[in-house]
Amino acid sequence: MNETKLSLFDFTQKELMELIKPSFRAKQIFGWIYHQYAQSFDDMKNIPKVLKEELAQKFVVNPLTIANKEESSDGTIKYLLQMQDGKTMEAVWLKMKDELTDEDGHVFQEAKYTICVSTQVGCKVGCTFCLTAKGGFTRNLTAGEIVAQVVTLKRDNDHKHNRKINIVYMGMGEPLDNLDNLTKAIEIFKEEEGLCIGAKRQTVSTSGLSNKIDKLGEMDLGVHIAISLHAVDDELRTELIPMNKAHNIASIIEAVKRFPIDTRKRVMFEYLVIKNKNDDIASAKKLVKLLTDIKAKVNLIYFNPYPGTPYDRPLKADMVAFQEYLINHGLLCTIRDSKGIDISAACGQLKEKTEGEI
Ligand code: SAH
Ligand code: SF4
Repeated sequence: MNETKLSLFDFTQKELMELIKPSFRAKQIFGWIYHQYAQSFDDMKNIPKVLKEELAQKFVVNPLTIANKEESSDGTIKYLLQMQDGKTMEAVWLKMKDELTDEDGHVFQEAKYTICVSTQVGCKVGCTFCLTAKGGFTRNLTAGEIVAQVVTLKRDNDHKHNRKINIVYMGMGEPLDNLDNLTKAIEIFKEEEGLCIGAKRQTVSTSGLSNKIDKLGEMDLGVHIAISLHAVDDELRTELIPMNKAHNIASIIEAVKRFPIDTRKRVMFEYLVIKNKNDDIASAKKLVKLLTDIKAKVNLIYFNPYPGTPYDRPLKADMVAFQEYLINHGLLCTIRDSKGIDISAACGQLKEKTEGEI
């Protein structure tokens, strides 16, 4: 096993300026890692050799290497990333909008991307439909390992600027179960001289730890939240998400109502649709009732089957009927287009495929 060091991505610019003297060197190094994609201290041409040697004793530049990569026909790229201790996790590069050019080749709409990041290796929540849950919980990611996912994917796709990038915390793990490192990563992403990805462009997806939703809300960071609801009654939700026993639907709805939300925005409710489990109109009806007093938006997700799962992918007709019911009853509702359906799309699937039984 390799020695594990903190990485340069673990620090805000201010923290680096305290760690590295003279502080203007810290600023230069910040530029090297976020704008020139330096992968090692050797890459940093204008930094004195002695300082680089000193820093290399204590820190690594990037704690991640790309262990595997799968590209889908729709432009989605799924990465298996390896950390210093040999553990792996996934991050996904999603192309949300194509670049559009006029007849003269001038770009009038830049391409838009979303990067989906992991926050843990494994997960404690144990959802019965989720492959990540199968291997149990291994460890939290550090803030640097969360930040480095975005830098590594941007670098690999030669994406030079920071415009048109959104971050969703929807990879492996439960972000709110790693709250300290999550909030540190949110701050580092916001750094003006770093990636400059504001909180409004970051969405934290949670399986619904209601006390932690409150905690995140109290910090008032300005991030969006997405709630993985998946069921409208506690019995089914507890079957799908065992920790629903401790954080039931009512407690989540109450926590969402307390969460500070930009007046122009809505809270996203993710609803994983599973055949013959939660795909009926009676469930849609309950969902409308449940979200009555919330500025909500519902995102329906097709369950993506994998070998050994007891659940099935819903029929398209049922999915569409569910969506129509919600829309006809005043809710905004989209169906998540199954990006990367031809690769190992749902979380945990590339890891499982590469490493076998987890
Ligand atoms: N732990 C957080 C963060 C993301 S989990 C949460 O649960 O919200 C990753 C996402 O993948 C969740 O939206 C989850 O619903 C979805 N997911 C997990 N297994 C899936 C599967 N087999 N098919 C489709 N989506 C799945
Ligand atoms: Fe964890 Fe989210 Fe998977 Fe549930 S769906 S086991 S909370 S990663």
